[in-house]
Amino acid sequence: VAGGEAEVVEELRRLLPGRVTSDPAILAIYSREASGAEGRPWAVVLPESPEEVSRLLAHAYKREYPVYPQGSATSLAGSAAPLDGGVVLSLERMRAVKAVSVEDYTVDVEPGVRLAEVNLALASTPLFFPVDPGSVRVATVGGAIASGAGGMMGARYGSMRDWVLGLTIVLPDERGSIVRVGCRTLKCRQGLDLVRLIVGSEGTLAVVVEATLRLAPRPEATPTILAFFPREEDALEAALDVRRRGMDALLLEYMDEETARLAAEARKAQVTVEGHMLLASVASTRESRGRHLAELEEIARRRGATRIYRAASLEAAEEKGLLDIRRGLFAGQVLAGRRRFPGRRIHVLVEDVAVPPSRLAEAASMIRAAAAEAGLPLGLGGHVGDGNLHPSIAFPLDDPKAAEAARRLHEEIARIALRLGGTVSAEHGIGVEKRGLLRMELEALGGVEALRLMRGIKRVFDPKGILNPGKVIPP
Ligand SMILES: Cc1cc2nc3c(=O)[nH]c(=O)nc-3n(C[C@H](O)[C@H](O)[C@H](O)COP(=O)(O)OP(=O)(O)OC[C@H]3O[C@@H](n4cnc5c(N)ncnc54)[C@H](O)[C@@H]3O)c2cc1C
Repeated sequence: VAGGEAEVVEELRRLLPGRVTSDPAILAIYSREASGAEGRPWAVVLPESPEEVSRLLAHAYKREYPVYPQGSATSLAGSAAPLDGGVVLSLERMRAVKAVSVEDYTVDVEPGVRLAEVNLALASTPLFFPVDPGSVRVATVGGAIASGAGGMMGARYGSMRDWVLGLTIVLPDERGSIVRVGCRTLKCRQGLDLVRLIVGSEGTLAVVVEATLRLAPRPEATPTILAFFPREEDALEAALDVRRRGMDALLLEYMDEETARLAAEARKAQVTVEGHMLLASVASTRESRGRHLAELEEIARRRGATRIYRAASLEAAEEKGLLDIRRGLFAGQVLAGRRRFPGRRIHVLVEDVAVPPSRLAEAASMIRAAAAEAGLPLGLGGHVGDGNLHPSIAFPLDDPKAAEAARRLHEEIARIALRLGGTVSAEHGIGVEKRGLLRMELEALGGVEALRLMRGIKRVFDPKGILNPGKVIPP
């Protein structure tokens, strides 16, 4: 950058007084994301309005430096970390829930609102926002939109792309153009669908400064069980039985025994882990609740469950601590790695493949065989209701052989998913970590030309390549 980074930061301070910090202790906080990916930004900018975001992006365009949009930096894909100097653009101060419409089933929010806060704002209505990643208490609306996040209720409610109606975005162009795309209505044919393009674009095309989200009515009843099985395939088959019977699954969450045990420990869960875990909850009515609860229990018993906890609703399950273990998946995966390699610095790769649910048991056994061949410990969990598995591979950073074996296993797991008709990333995104896998997937599907289209789209939105550079699109 002409004049150097210090000059850019000085200019920014004049442009956005009170919104810029370059204190090294503060920079450290914004340098690193949950996946462990980290960089060294020159400054963090904390705008409080779309106009301030616009001013920053116009300046970055003129001076040609990287800008990294960030919500809470809980990304597991290497998508939020500032890997190449430049400026972190944190949306955390834009945190208002602006309007709720109970008739329209919509809520208008600023990007820094945390997902859990959206639901707090809806507490007195019959509606809720159903995308609930494990990180729901900290992850922001902007971050979830940009990473195309999914959650525990993906079986019924899909992921962010199904719940965003309209967006206000700021472009990294000469003026920092502020553009509204999408509608306030469920049906909307506004030419090419730019809303869907922005959802999941991981901050590489535009900055989201406001969103109109769709809401859902809360299911009347949500009978829930937490069951433990001696055999992994039985737990997975039980999840499939819920689907086979056409029950309206809200939540079908799996964790292998070791991960469940350590997650329970990390979350201090009041539940005895006694095998591989399946958490199952279905949407029901007041009248059918008892019958559905009994049906869930029967499915689990038939598949050999030895311990079953039950709750009349998800709220009751929460109170009994039945959801704690599943919320601790990531913590359990990290703890499993630490136990395996005591006293050493480790890295945990959390995979994010999805397969058609009918292929889940096959996928699990193929992934386990690949891990055994690589000689690496493997943790397994995921949102099995929508076929999404999160195998985790831990390895010590001081062992180059193990690191290489982990990289090969990471690729093999992706190949297995593709062979079974799946995808390499269901919800975490591509970031820098899965760019190679994205290429692999497109090659396998005969879609490699899509990379040319993606590069072209990136150039149209971001002609100077300053917004979250190096992410998503393989070189
Ligand atoms: C414990 C744990 C559990 C998790 N569970 C899940 C899960 O169940 N499902 C799931 O999908 N993910 C999960 N994740 C991953 C992550 O939490 C989600 O992707 C989340 O939505 C990211 O939100 P964030 O605010 O932290 O975004 P960040 O990590 O800050 O950013 C994510 C991406 O969005 C971009 N971005 C952020 N804000 C904006 C904006 N306003 N405009 C444009 N781009 C922006 C960033 O540049 C980056 O590319 C989990 C992570 C952890 C640590």
